[in-house]
Amino acid sequence: MWFRRDLRLSDNPALLSAAASAGRDGVVAAAYCLDDRLLHPAGPARRAFLLRSLRALDESIGGRLVVRRGDPESQVVQVASDVGARSVHVSADFGPYGAARDERVERALADRGMELVRTGSPYAVAPGTVRTAAGAPYKVFGPFARAWRALGWDRPQRAPQRVRWAEGLDGDALPAEPTCSAALPGAGEEAAKRAARRFWDTHLDQYATGRNDPGADATSRLSPHLRWGTIHPRQLLGGLGRSKSADAFRTELCWREFYADVLHHRPDSARQSLQPAMRSMQVDSGRLADERFAAWAAGRTGYPFVDAGMRQLLAEAWMHNRLRMVVASFLVKDLHVDWTRGAAHFMHHLVDGDLASNQHGWQWTAGTGTDPAPYVRVFNPVTQGQRFDPDGTYVRRWVPELRAVPPRHIHRPWEAPGGPPVGYPPPIVDHASERAEALARYEASSRAGGSGAGRGTGRRSP
Ligand SMILES: Cc1cc2nc3c(=O)[nH]c(=O)nc-3n(C[C@H](O)[C@H](O)[C@H](O)COP(=O)(O)OP(=O)(O)OC[C@H]3O[C@@H](n4cnc5c(N)ncnc54)[C@H](O)[C@@H]3O)c2cc1C
Repeated sequence: MWFRRDLRLSDNPALLSAAASAGRDGVVAAAYCLDDRLLHPAGPARRAFLLRSLRALDESIGGRLVVRRGDPESQVVQVASDVGARSVHVSADFGPYGAARDERVERALADRGMELVRTGSPYAVAPGTVRTAAGAPYKVFGPFARAWRALGWDRPQRAPQRVRWAEGLDGDALPAEPTCSAALPGAGEEAAKRAARRFWDTHLDQYATGRNDPGADATSRLSPHLRWGTIHPRQLLGGLGRSKSADAFRTELCWREFYADVLHHRPDSARQSLQPAMRSMQVDSGRLADERFAAWAAGRTGYPFVDAGMRQLLAEAWMHNRLRMVVASFLVKDLHVDWTRGAAHFMHHLVDGDLASNQHGWQWTAGTGTDPAPYVRVFNPVTQGQRFDPDGTYVRRWVPELRAVPPRHIHRPWEAPGGPPVGYPPPIVDHASERAEALARYEASSRAGGSGAGRGTGRRSP
């Protein structure tokens, strides 16, 4: 059993398949391969969370997880040969790198008379399955979600009974954890189940409204567990029921499935805008753009809602969804920085960093991806704060310099009586003019027909 994004024992179809193929008297070797190609974009938070999840998995099988470091094509094949396996069982990977890697491993195994068996996936409905009546992939979320729901999913299954885990195989020690200053959630399957139960008991009933209140912190926080498969979406969808809040939660899980489906059909969209016409948008680079990017990354733009989000990212390696949209919009449409740069920053810092959800979350906000709403939707960092954090609970939690600012001014501290708070910067740009600039660039790019000739307004590029 080669574990990858399914670091759990319960409801793991690939593991059930490995156990069934071993039979009553056979053994199953549990393997994980630390692959530098996959670890590269992850910063200390995601690496530390992965290592903790692996440790928890190892403990749950009595210390018999064989960890190998290196290229899976040689490492996994080696473990399988050492144990005399007939087959190597995996959950199918639909990411651009993972799918190609699996084909290579499959060929290398076949050369030695072994088979790669794919059972299940990290999704309730495997990417590529939901299609229109004509057999085409969906390009828009709404119809995808309806078809996804109509297809449905299996009930979650228990962990296999009585697996005899192979012992005494050569493995590498788990590397030491990188120093990580962010406060991370508990890792491993049991921690995931506890987090799910806590969410069920405390916040699910109010999720439809609570999910938009970052100060209330009322979402499930299950994203890192879904990322590594310490919980599977089936295990969440199974008991959801039919309330408004249950529907809202199901819909959010569906976004994750939609983006994985889009990336499966369009692997190029991990690195460039899905809509070719948007690739000619003029973006800023150079010293001023770098300085502005640094202010954004440090949470010092002078816009409290944006800064609170960016500081939550640094402190927790996680950010509330509303803030992800607001800070992404700010980077792309107020600072005119290319979305791929912001997406890479997120992939470094996020504990839940997931290629499909991240790149397409950014593209949704940047207006370059699947969303039919045009580029002209520009989030206003002040009114977003006033609407979703009216009394400033969230801002005060993450921006201590603003704690004494009265609620009426918390999202416009430069207007606070007695002047702006000491130690907090004035806004680095004027939102109204940058919004106009973003729209002008969009129009210039549209006029150019997306031919690569977009020139913006002719404003001096820093
Ligand atoms: C710019 C941007 C970047 C993002 N990057 C990531 C990322 O790298 N990894 C990631 O898991 N999510 C990403 N998201 C989606 C979303 O913000 C997070 O999944 C969510 O905030 C995680 O918190 P939660 O588990 O408490 O979510 P809940 O509200 O409890 O939702 C439950 C689950 O549904 C899924 N989900 C919820 N909202 C979305 C969404 N908009 N898109 C896709 N899946 C969703 C997640 O798996 C989440 O754990 C991004 C969104 C944006 C706008």
